[in-house]
Amino acid sequence: MHKKTLLILFLLFLSQTSFLSIAESTPNQQGVVDLRILETTDLHASLINYDYYQTKADNRIGLVKTATLIRTARNEVQNSLLFDDGDHLKGNPLGEYLARIRGIHRGKIHPVYRAFNFLDYDAVAIGNHEFNYGLDFLNAAIKGAKMPVINANVFSVKKNKPYFTPYVILKRNVVDQTGRKHELKIGVISFMPTQIMKWDKANLEGKITAKPIVDTAKEFIPIMKSKGADIIVALAHTGISYEPYNAESENVVYYLSKIPGIDAVLAGHSHSVFPGPVYKNSPHTNIKMGQINGKPVVMAGAFGSRLGIIDLRIQKSNGTWRVVKGTSLTRPIADESGNPLVRKDKGLYKLVKPEHQETVDFIKKLGL
Ligand code: MN
Ligand code: MG
Repeated sequence: MHKKTLLILFLLFLSQTSFLSIAESTPNQQGVVDLRILETTDLHASLINYDYYQTKADNRIGLVKTATLIRTARNEVQNSLLFDDGDHLKGNPLGEYLARIRGIHRGKIHPVYRAFNFLDYDAVAIGNHEFNYGLDFLNAAIKGAKMPVINANVFSVKKNKPYFTPYVILKRNVVDQTGRKHELKIGVISFMPTQIMKWDKANLEGKITAKPIVDTAKEFIPIMKSKGADIIVALAHTGISYEPYNAESENVVYYLSKIPGIDAVLAGHSHSVFPGPVYKNSPHTNIKMGQINGKPVVMAGAFGSRLGIIDLRIQKSNGTWRVVKGTSLTRPIADESGNPLVRKDKGLYKLVKPEHQETVDFIKKLGL
């Protein structure tokens, strides 16, 4: 055989063996589960890609657009969960029209919760703005939600107990890297800023109180663990601040991420994007990995502009699940100039169009 041919054959052999050894070094493993956690936050009733003030389409907002990202992100993986991080009922004319003009019709479900039901959210956080229309409206709206709507740090004055469902432990069948099924218990807890007592004093005083977020978390996490939570996700309707902590701190994600037992933090409230350049030089923060204090954190802007994604790799050893890797990123619905990157979800659009149209007609009638 020609020398050159021999050399090529030898190189081919080498390259194949090296491929083999790479494949062998990262085999699919039993008991290793990749779990994707999806977040929307601070939707502020932005269901449609529409600007009610300018009365024209706006492709930088709207859950009908984010829904397309949700479907894609779900299809890419075997195991996923979807959460909303709060502030979803109020913030645009549709929200105002529903709460102050039309009301929720008997037997009808608020379009925001109808959308959450349609997209099959696993749990939803209550944000501070959910109180803006009063407790009666909120309680009536929540009744239409098929998934748990939760908060742990708002307490009933009368009962001195959490006013809402404080946390849930979701049982989900997940598939490991070898295709084997496991039942995973995912603890989900939610918090919001204590400033609600100032912001919504008229609606809340004498009825509820708000306890500091970090103290509440430290109280509940061991309880959730003792009730069998394998991993814990915090739906934290609070932003990211590096200021020293005190009981009145409004944005406490940095301190929540330090609490043992919390495995992932879905942030919100401040309408910013994490990971993102704003946090580039922040302490104990890795924007490439999407981590703060080594924990995965995500914040998906506001109004449905982005989908937040946390990818967890968890492993079962000696009967206990632990997170071996957690990273995050966000995906936008439009580019920086506002050009759409995704189409709207037609099913969701059809579902919420009636209230959208009513709102548009109402604005027209006012002559605005
Ligand atoms: Mn908000
Ligand atoms: Mg908020």
